Amino acid sequence: MYDIGIIGGGTAGMTAAIYGQRAGKQTVLFEGTTIGGQITSSPNVENYPGIASVSGSEFSMNLMDQAVKLGTQTIMEQVTGIREEADYKVIVTTEKEYECKSIILATGVTHRHLGVPGEERLTGAGVSYCATCDGMFFRGREVAVVGGGSTALQDAEFLSNYCSKVYLIHRRDEFRGEDQIVKRLQEKENVEFILNTTVQEIRGEQMVESLRVLNKVTGEESELAVSGIFVAVGQIAQNEKFADVVQLDEGGFIVAGEDCKTSEAGIYAAGDCRTKEVRQLTTAAADGAVAALAACKYIADFAEK
Ligand code: NAP
Repeated sequence: MYDIGIIGGGTAGMTAAIYGQRAGKQTVLFEGTTIGGQITSSPNVENYPGIASVSGSEFSMNLMDQAVKLGTQTIMEQVTGIREEADYKVIVTTEKEYECKSIILATGVTHRHLGVPGEERLTGAGVSYCATCDGMFFRGREVAVVGGGSTALQDAEFLSNYCSKVYLIHRRDEFRGEDQIVKRLQEKENVEFILNTTVQEIRGEQMVESLRVLNKVTGEESELAVSGIFVAVGQIAQNEKFADVVQLDEGGFIVAGEDCKTSEAGIYAAGDCRTKEVRQLTTAAADGAVAALAACKYIADFAEK
């Protein structure tokens, strides 16, 4: 039986693994897709204290390396649910079942879609949710980024280094993301802000050819010729498979406070997957530490009973 079962291999999950192992507990980390979480697609992380600048993939590779060297076991299987037994818990995957004394849910979030005609059909054919993964395919071409948060700003900056033109389409005239990046983008000749505007349709036969956009102030509709569209309009939680064990809020986030305790004893939620105000790399790492130490205390208290 494992001491701490961690579901999710992003920053929160890997930090929990590091803290768990360093506290002498055997941790096992489950990841269904790629280790690293969302930060791996961040071209440049510039707001993690003590590290002036690092690529998201390097950051997460270092974290993983640290966790594994400490003895964390990683299992690349999709978790389908969790179950409570009288004195332990069970993590169920598509392959097997694993017994653990405590569980940390660090499932992160997934990309929100625009939900407009053409989006699903042309995903992978010009519609992308990851600029660092797919940006190179659009070298020398005209593309659009949609969104006004840090991800959209970073994506636009990254793409401006490869693409002939980057349109940054945002539904308001103020950005949610960092001012510093907005200023850098304003100085780029090949970046154009298209504000107060929403994408109504993504058009193209085999590949993206253009976007139908609506200016919300003037009511004017127009067509914008682009070869690619990078959607960066935030994230959504996907924790339904745990809803029978822990309480979720109306948005699907796991209800847990700063102590990372869920509605169920011995099960903790860390990082973006839980109810919280600030979803940042630093707060994900902080949650990982808090949740792991809480799990260690739970195991010790349980053993004493
Ligand atoms: P976000 O901050 O939630 O921003 C989402 C953006 O998409 C907002 O500007 C929002 O517009 C817009 N939007 C939402 N739904 C839309 C729709 N249906 N149509 C058009 N636009 C829509 O998401 P994010 O940029 O992915 O960032 C998520 C979190 O990660 C944030 O806390 C962010 O600071 C953090 N992050 C950190 C780093 C880093 O380097 N440390 C990098 C990336 C992200 P409104 O503004 O009008 O609501």
